[in-house]
Amino acid sequence: MKQKIASPAKTREILNQYDFIFQKRYGQNFLIDLHVLNKIIQAADLSSNDYVIEVGPGIGSLTQALAEEAGQVIAIEIDKQLVPILQETLKEYDNITILNEDVLQVDMEELLAKRPLGTAVKVVANLPYYITTPIIMGLLEKKLPLEHITVMVQKEVADRMRAVPGTKDYGALSVAVQYYCEPYLVANVPAHCFIPRPNVGSAVIQLRVLEEPRIRVENESFFFQIVRAAFAQRRKTLLNALYHYFQKEISLSKEEIVSCFKVMGLEEKIRGETLTIEQLGTLSDLLYSMIRKTSSNTK
Ligand code: SAM
Repeated sequence: MKQKIASPAKTREILNQYDFIFQKRYGQNFLIDLHVLNKIIQAADLSSNDYVIEVGPGIGSLTQALAEEAGQVIAIEIDKQLVPILQETLKEYDNITILNEDVLQVDMEELLAKRPLGTAVKVVANLPYYITTPIIMGLLEKKLPLEHITVMVQKEVADRMRAVPGTKDYGALSVAVQYYCEPYLVANVPAHCFIPRPNVGSAVIQLRVLEEPRIRVENESFFFQIVRAAFAQRRKTLLNALYHYFQKEISLSKEEIVSCFKVMGLEEKIRGETLTIEQLGTLSDLLYSMIRKTSSNTK
C-alpha cells in the first residue's frame, strides 16, 4: 500500500513542495480525513470492473483511493497547476487518466463510448461546490449509463436532493434528482476535514441511478418546465404560479388550470411544494394535453 495523500501531513507536504496557490474560484477544498475518504470508497463499492469518473482530483487524495479499487479512473481537473502535481503524486498508478479540462465542457457520451465493453460506470468525487447542480443535472439529463453518483456536496444541497414533499428543502432540485435517482445520505462531513476549511457544512450523498425515470411523462421537457414553475415562487399558490408561468409562455386560463386540478382532486389553494413527483407528473400530463387541445382548437 502506497502512502496516503489524504492525511493532513502529506497534503501539507505536497502543497508546500509545489508552492501551491489555492484558487478560490475553483472551489478548492482538499480532503484530509482518511475516515471520510474510506466512507466514500465503501459507499462507491468499487471493483476492477468499474470505470470511474472523478470530477476535480485536486492533488489526488480521492483519486489514489479510487485507483486502488477500480479498473480505470478518469480524473477531470480544470486547474492546470494541478496537472504536474497529479502526475507526480499518482505516478505509481497505471489505471488513471488525467484530463485537464472543464468538466462542463467534456463530451461525456464520447468519453464513455471509449470505455472497455461491459464496465460499470460510477461517478465519485469531492465536487467543486460552485457548479454542483450543473454537473449533476448534466450527467443525469444525458441519461448516461451510470450506476451511481457518489459525491461530496454542500450539506444544504444534499438535504435538498433527498427532501420529501411538504418540507422546506423540497424543491425543483429534489424532484429533478429523484426523477432519475434514489438518493442516500452517506455521511455528514465537518469543515475540519478539508484544507482550507469550507465555510459551509458538507455531506457525501449517493444518487443511485434508476433503470428508468421514476415516473413516465408525456413530455419530459414540459414536465421540468412545470416543476420549475411550481417551485419558482414559493409564496404563491400553485395555481397562481402556473397561471403566471402560462401567461408568459403558452396561454392557459385559470379555469383551464383549475379543471386539471379538479381531475386530480387538488384544492385551488394548494402549494407546489406539497405535491409528490407522481402528482407533478400527472399534472404536467393533464396540462400538456390541455395545451394541445387549446392549440388545435385555435388552428
Ligand atoms: N478531489 C480533491 C479532494 O478531494 O481533495 C479536490 C476536491 S475540490 C473540492 C474540487 C476540485 O475540482 C478542485 O481540484 C478544482 O480545481 C476542481 N474543479 C473546479 N472546477 C472544475 C471544473 N469546472 N472542471 C473540473 N474540475 C474542476
